[in-house]
Amino acid sequence: MPIYNAPTKDLQFVLHDLLKVSEQNIEGYEDLDREFTGAVLEEAGKVATEVLHPLNVVGDKEGCVLENGVVRTPNGFKAAFEQMKEGGWTAMDCDPEYGGQGLPYVMNSAAQEPFVSANMAFNMYQGLTHGAYSAIHAHGTDEQKQKYLPKMVTCEWTGTMNLTEPHCGTDLGLMRTKAAPQADGSYKISGQKIFISAGDHDMADNIIHLVLAKIEGGPEGIKGVSLFIVPKFMVNEDGSLGDRNGVSVGSIEEKMGIHGNSTCVMNYDEATGYLLGTEHKGMRAMFTMMNEARIGVGLQGYAQAESAYQNAVAYANDRLQGRAVTGAENPDGPADPLIVHPDIRRNLMDQKSFVEGARAFTLWGANLIDRAHRNGDKEADGLISLMTPVIKGFQTDKGFEYAVAAQQVYGGHGYIEEWGMSQYARDARIAMIYEGANGVQALDLVGRKLAQDGGKHVMAFFEMIKNFIKENEGNEALKADFLEPLKAASKDLQAAGMYFMQNGMKNPNHALAGSYDFMHMMGHVCFGLMWAKMAKAAMEALEGGASDTAFYETKIATGKYYMARQLPATGMHLARINTGADTVMALDAANF
Ligand SMILES: Cc1cc2nc3c(=O)[nH]c(=O)nc-3n(C[C@H](O)[C@H](O)[C@H](O)COP(=O)(O)OP(=O)(O)OC[C@H]3O[C@@H](n4cnc5c(N)ncnc54)[C@H](O)[C@@H]3O)c2cc1C
Repeated sequence: MPIYNAPTKDLQFVLHDLLKVSEQNIEGYEDLDREFTGAVLEEAGKVATEVLHPLNVVGDKEGCVLENGVVRTPNGFKAAFEQMKEGGWTAMDCDPEYGGQGLPYVMNSAAQEPFVSANMAFNMYQGLTHGAYSAIHAHGTDEQKQKYLPKMVTCEWTGTMNLTEPHCGTDLGLMRTKAAPQADGSYKISGQKIFISAGDHDMADNIIHLVLAKIEGGPEGIKGVSLFIVPKFMVNEDGSLGDRNGVSVGSIEEKMGIHGNSTCVMNYDEATGYLLGTEHKGMRAMFTMMNEARIGVGLQGYAQAESAYQNAVAYANDRLQGRAVTGAENPDGPADPLIVHPDIRRNLMDQKSFVEGARAFTLWGANLIDRAHRNGDKEADGLISLMTPVIKGFQTDKGFEYAVAAQQVYGGHGYIEEWGMSQYARDARIAMIYEGANGVQALDLVGRKLAQDGGKHVMAFFEMIKNFIKENEGNEALKADFLEPLKAASKDLQAAGMYFMQNGMKNPNHALAGSYDFMHMMGHVCFGLMWAKMAKAAMEALEGGASDTAFYETKIATGKYYMARQLPATGMHLARINTGADTVMALDAANF
């Protein structure tokens, strides 16, 4: 049985030593002192380890079953979902007007991590509900908000997002689902959606589907797509549930991982739907869900790697194989533990420095969202828009890579289901695909976000790095190990941006052939910045007489590893980008 312990201390480090949340002038942050966030995170950690983690393997083994048109979730899920609702965990950052607790997004994100690490498939039921809540909150009429939000905040009703159809995933302009206007202002929705996460289950009284469809006679392509609220059960004027709507589950997909989450084919047969937001502006409304969801998926990436890492460390300390090349470290035993071997250390340091960097980057991003939403900070809004594809794409690629790396520490046992390591890799894999496949995230970053608002946001990012380096250049402890590598990596990133500007106009393939490398390069630079800031924070804590010296010294040593062994990857990515599209596009399609 795999282990999991919530990394409360590290989450506290990011919130307080790095982000200094309680000193930030953002509405709601005044409550985020160490004591409060510590109490919330301790409790979240307890729920994660005691309630959700034991159900992770159960969900994987049992999966979801379609019985008489209704999906049955794995044993124990329903009771655990009740506990999540009762504990108020589904309502943390929701609007108090609709029964939420109104806590900042950064607090919600920090508390979510243990839930996702402990049981990703389970947590998706409430994650998707939160996304649907946000879309209705941002684009719904007062009546729609009053009708749906209070029940969605508590997860008495859950939510879904319905974009994908058999013939269209990325290219949603090809969508065929139709919406026929009715005399009473509602619409009849007809069509088929596939791969719908949490599409049906037995843990909520109602399911509020958000469905993209084309209103008959509207513009062609993506410009004709609108978003609709389609409840599983109709909701009466007094809020009670009425008749079953014309939506049903066709089947459940058999898939590689996240077996505990029901991935459904949804059939809409003249189902009654209500327009959410403006006609033909469905993508705009859907993006309210998608941006939040993309950051949530970026969190899934590293949260799975965190769980896998914890198990790999335990195994590396336990398993005896071979002797340390510098002399036996366990002379009384038949062999030394795996952890003595430099290659196992390399592997574990890769995992550790990724997970902690990702935690910092994700919560830094969540802080930008709070600045944007609570303080109306336009700069923060632009920056998080730029960073969203990086958080999603880079962290999920690496999250999977390191879940596999953790499996490798187990040798053959990692491949055997009994040890549970294959589940982390299988579950982490989907995060690279849904919410926009990672290649499309790279396309979004290079094709859209870099040039957004005249390139203002990427320039602000470079400026932020420059200023950090300048402010700290007199700090000898940071200089060689952190500031210089960060400066070099940032220079590589700027050079790549310059290459795109000079060559992308002549031939856009030159930019897009390097987009994936650019996304990874930017991920490394962001992590480099986070590690430099974390090292500084740890050094300050030590200078300030922090008692837990081992924690802070470990933090600095892990940061040095990232800067020395991971950040130089920017040079390789730049070299690839600088070769443009010629070798990438050299073959005719027939020659593959
Ligand atoms: C388990 C699971 C759960 C899901 N949950 C949901 C859900 O809840 N709701 C929902 O609506 N959908 C959901 N999806 C669907 C998911 O979002 C899509 O699978 C994904 O967006 C990709 O679409 P596609 O599969 O049609 O691939 P395609 O769009 O056919 O893409 C195939 C490949 O081509 C690449 N590609 C496509 N276009 C371009 C381009 N212009 N340039 C470069 N590369 C390109 C992509 O990156 C991808 O690698 C889920 C899928 C799975 C497997």
